[in-house]
Amino acid sequence: MPCIQILPEVFSFLERQHGQFIDGQTRAPASGAAMLSVTNPATESVIAQVAAASEAEVDAAVAAATAAFEGVWAQTSPYERGQLLLRMADAMEAHGEELAQIESLTTGKSIHLSRMLDVGQTAVALRYYAGWATKISGQTLSPSFPSLRGERYSAMTLREPVGVVAGIIPWNFGPMIAAWKFGAALACGCTMVLKPSEFSPLTLLRMVELFTGAGLPDGVLNIVNGGGDCGQQLIHHPDVAKVSFTGSAGTGIKVGRAAVAAHLTRFTLELGGKNAAILLADANVDAAVTGLLQTGYVHQGQVCAAPERLFVSQERVDEVCEKMAQALRHLKIGSPLDEAVQQGPISNKPQYEKVLQYFETAHRQSQVLCGARAVDGTGYFVEPTLIRARTPQDVLLCEEVFGPVLTVMPYEDEGQMLEWVNDTPFGLSASLWTNDLAKAMRLIPQVQAGTVWVNMHTFLDCAVPFGGVKASGVGRELGSAFIDDYTELKSVIMAY
Ligand code: NAD
Repeated sequence: MPCIQILPEVFSFLERQHGQFIDGQTRAPASGAAMLSVTNPATESVIAQVAAASEAEVDAAVAAATAAFEGVWAQTSPYERGQLLLRMADAMEAHGEELAQIESLTTGKSIHLSRMLDVGQTAVALRYYAGWATKISGQTLSPSFPSLRGERYSAMTLREPVGVVAGIIPWNFGPMIAAWKFGAALACGCTMVLKPSEFSPLTLLRMVELFTGAGLPDGVLNIVNGGGDCGQQLIHHPDVAKVSFTGSAGTGIKVGRAAVAAHLTRFTLELGGKNAAILLADANVDAAVTGLLQTGYVHQGQVCAAPERLFVSQERVDEVCEKMAQALRHLKIGSPLDEAVQQGPISNKPQYEKVLQYFETAHRQSQVLCGARAVDGTGYFVEPTLIRARTPQDVLLCEEVFGPVLTVMPYEDEGQMLEWVNDTPFGLSASLWTNDLAKAMRLIPQVQAGTVWVNMHTFLDCAVPFGGVKASGVGRELGSAFIDDYTELKSVIMAY
């Protein structure tokens, strides 16, 4: 099947001079600004240049967000904030194909996935937060102090927005992850400065222009571009009240440390995982294989919650490995803009090189059942891979690969399996595959993970909180959990 036609507006957007988005304006790159090259991972060609923010520009973005927080956004009612978020969702959908194409060109994500998640589910998330804007409230409470002179007491809590939030975003699902942050922040009355990944800033830069057209007031949402230095400047800024970070565990530790050292700035961290899928002896193998293929290899496995470890009851392991390897050999690899393709490229060169190193380790240390090779030719393409570990200590079973690689480990009894499942610093997600719901209910509390799925994996829903335990994070996004993170609770006690 041929690739889809790139829209003329996508070409003209890519050709533009990209800079920062501050106080409602796209700022042209300052003269002498360092430029970040955005590369199409399917072709290895540079498709756009984005200016990195200078220190003065980062300061200007925080100043704009502070002025908006104290001014226009403080005067905007919760109802109006919700209405704006709805219009922002509409604007995304109206330009959905354009945004999806920009996202696929910069990340190698299949066009289906860009349409479904980075446009469709991002709009869903904005509408979800729009609904919350009018429902964020405190409580009334009854103090029990003794009344000395006949006075009475009453108490209440107020939910106040924390202030300016710095959102630091990874490259895998930039628009959707950013919307989980700015949707929550704006619904609560906060303003934001976003720093997209230096590998994939383009879709967010286009989105924020569309939001301005939808009525986003100046300064409420700002974007600055750059790498770790830019992130650190934001974290250390005295006017940043909260840092909302999504990325790797290693960077997350640096972010958390910097936030505490800066001004005891509050922070939430959504980090990596080494997520286990557990196939019990009674599982429906065909359904499990189909489910794991869909979730372990989607976006080339570059999904934080995707299964990377597969623990299979000894008696089913050969059947599972055979069926998975067979299916993986038939996945169609190619351009993410070809609607028939199932595997695109790895999103960027450093990640591609990291995955290739894990392939070398797999060939040396474990048993490669299929894949574990780069695809010849241009682009960061690799074969979808299935590994069988020789020991629970195999590197492929311990470290986050963030690629299209699943490593299988057979187990003999459930005690042993649980020990291996939990023997990891991570705790983002896990799945149980079984027809025995009673057994699943007994195992769920014993699995150390922020989310446990049963007979499914990597299904996220706005109504359900998402986040990690152990080294997979601090805090939750989605559900109502965001309210604690984006508001301060003020207690008021009155005598009358
Ligand atoms: P990363 O940690 O390399 O970068 C994430 C962001 O942090 C980028 O914007 C980067 O520029 C910035 N950054 C880098 N160094 C920094 C520093 N010292 N201070 C401040 N900011 C800094 O992660 P990545 O490679 O972009 O993304 C992949 C990782 O993200 C994987 O580990 C994946 O599991 C994780 N992830 C987690 C979730 C989740 O919700 N838990 C979602 C998506 C991705």
